[in-house]
Amino acid sequence: MGIVSTPIIAQEVKGSIPAGSKNPTIMPVVVAVPKELAPGEQRVATVPEVVQKLTKSGHEVRIEHDAGTRAYYPDDLFTAAGAKIASSRTELLDGARIVLRVQPPTAAEVDQLAEGTIVIGFMNPAHNLEAVARMRDRKVTAFALELVPRITRAQSMDALSSQATAGGYVAAVMGAYNCPKFFPMLMTAAGTIRPATVLILGAGVAGLMAIATAKRLGAIVEAYDVRRAAGEQVRSLGAKFLELEINAEGQGGYARELTSEEKEKEQQMVSAAVARADIVITTAAIPGRKAPVLITRETVAIMRPGAVIIDMAAESGGNCELTQAGKTIREQGVMIIGPQNLPARIPFHTSQMYAKNLQSFLSLLVDKEGALVQEFTDEILIASLLVHEGNVCHVPTRDLLIRGKL
Ligand code: NAD
Repeated sequence: MGIVSTPIIAQEVKGSIPAGSKNPTIMPVVVAVPKELAPGEQRVATVPEVVQKLTKSGHEVRIEHDAGTRAYYPDDLFTAAGAKIASSRTELLDGARIVLRVQPPTAAEVDQLAEGTIVIGFMNPAHNLEAVARMRDRKVTAFALELVPRITRAQSMDALSSQATAGGYVAAVMGAYNCPKFFPMLMTAAGTIRPATVLILGAGVAGLMAIATAKRLGAIVEAYDVRRAAGEQVRSLGAKFLELEINAEGQGGYARELTSEEKEKEQQMVSAAVARADIVITTAAIPGRKAPVLITRETVAIMRPGAVIIDMAAESGGNCELTQAGKTIREQGVMIIGPQNLPARIPFHTSQMYAKNLQSFLSLLVDKEGALVQEFTDEILIASLLVHEGNVCHVPTRDLLIRGKL
């Protein structure tokens, strides 16, 4: 993907000087935040603290009525921070230049956007091809936060990490809540309680947070990851790292797919660890591919009665063969939970973190004068640009669209 040189024209003021704008010749950029309509989504793309900063920088921020209510940011807090509350989607989007979202827009939502609108949020493009095609056809510009490169300079914009951190925390708490045992060791007048054993499969961002949370609750924690580099991080959290003679670190710090021989070795070691665990939290993922199966039906059969599996990879196929996304099933005394959208369960803080990620991303799109940048030359913008001026810029998504004849 090359540098996009098409200019993004700042809107010139005709007549009055807008309040708040640093440069009187530049109209404030109108930033709109719709209410998320996806089932179960409780987060909102901005929070009052960030609105205050944006309005102070001269932008106009509009929030759709009730957009933050489910994350415990009521309209009046947004108003106090300087936002305008829009009573309808039409009012929200009228003249809006930038739209901030959590979930990808549906094709119907894209139809409400004017040509040239910039939408920023998670786009999950491989699973939203129809909406991507509609953004292309309507000449909407879309930045996908999943595509933000994991370079040091982009850390403050890394929404995948901020939300995965929350997911890992919620998974550990969910495990504790559903486990018939205490997590910590207890020495009481009613006897001594042995601590629970928690196994984390996949020690990326979510897995490390699950490890830290389970440790804080007092459990014995073991973890495994195909990337050997994860071992040091696991041990630094006080957990035991399960070693296998495999190093599957691939490009960009992500895992590569294992060979069939490696998979068998891994399977044996993982099965033994699963069998001795009270709670297993699985987070193993390979970007763009179906999640690897780490817990087979046979392994579930040898687990302890009362054991709980929280399969964080449920939405991408599951790390347990028996997982059903969005459901809890019971198999031979083992509870298998396939949660969806765990970050939405603590929407107050996940919205806050997400809003800060977006604020940071916006700083690349708006110059010091408060005007939209003329060209997307920053490497972070180039990498995360999904659709622009009728073109799908992300090659894998473009290929999927061609294959799907969209
Ligand atoms: P992810 O969600 O893609 O995967 C989760 C974990 O599953 C990864 O650690 C992966 O190695 C592991 N995994 C994959 N297949 C496995 C298997 N068969 N068995 C066991 N584990 C398996 O990963 P993520 O949490 O998004 O992070 C991926 C990497 O990116 C990590 O190294 C992380 O530290 C790094 N990262 C870097 C930055 C940065 O530099 N800004 C930011 C975030 C993450």
